Amino acid sequence: MSQGTLYIVSAPSGAGKTSLVRELIAATDDIGVSISHTTRQRRASETDGINYHFVDEPTFEAMIQRNEFFEHAWVFDRHYGTSRLEVEKRLARGEDVILEIDWQGARQVREQMPQAVSIFILPPSREALRERLSNRGQDDAATIDRRMRDAISEMSHFNEYDYLVINDDFATAAFEMKGLISAERLRMARVQAANRALLGELLSEVEGLR
Ligand code: GDP
Ligand code: ADP
Ligand code: 5GP
Repeated sequence: MSQGTLYIVSAPSGAGKTSLVRELIAATDDIGVSISHTTRQRRASETDGINYHFVDEPTFEAMIQRNEFFEHAWVFDRHYGTSRLEVEKRLARGEDVILEIDWQGARQVREQMPQAVSIFILPPSREALRERLSNRGQDDAATIDRRMRDAISEMSHFNEYDYLVINDDFATAAFEMKGLISAERLRMARVQAANRALLGELLSEVEGLR
């Protein structure tokens, strides 16, 4: 069985990355999202072990020391990181895995896995971003201000990614996300590896094409 594809999804906080990834996973087979570890406070709407593994600083530091993170970064004065074991296990099973991580984590992942496919999501305007952060109703005013300030620096990395999706109309952006996963799954090397028997039957006389 071939190894799954690793996807990296980044966006400024509030651009809609979590909602788009949720919609994508509901509509697509054999793909899942990696659950990060973080030291930030759990939001009222979040569940430990589902949205994140919420841990304290000493636990996170101990995981860094034991080299348990595939990547980790300091975002909004908190630690966030992806467990190496979880990602490797799922990719080895042939599942596609999505990492919802910031640009610093994306760089660390590309260094270790240059074949990872990366997607950046932008909001249609600054006003829309602020409105989404405040409509989400999960963060206080100071947190929203902090996230708006950091949005510009996160967005300035958009052109380090393979794909760019503007999340204006949600259904359109979700359709585009599904389309790019389908296209990646149709890459020659991948379809060829999964269809050796068919190619052998269709092209039995032709050397070197199977
Ligand atoms: P939201 O994106 O507004 O829902 O806010 P979060 O608190 O969930 O995420 C904050 C930031 O941390 C975002 O930029 C995420 O992309 C980033 N982030 C989340 N999980 C990880 C992770 O495992 N590794 C890294 N490097 N960044 C992460
Ligand atoms: P992120 O994970 O990037 O921080 P979320 O997925 O939590 O973003 O989305 C932030 C808020 O914006 C949520 O309340 C979500 O329902 C809303 N939202 C997402 N996409 C759109 C869109 N295209 N139009 C309007 N609101 C949106
Ligand atoms: P939030 O706290 O709103 O859930 O996420 C804030 C930011 O942290 C988002 O930009 C998100 O992409 C990033 N983030 C979440 N998990 C990880 C992670 O595991 N690694 C890295 N590098 N960033 C993360």
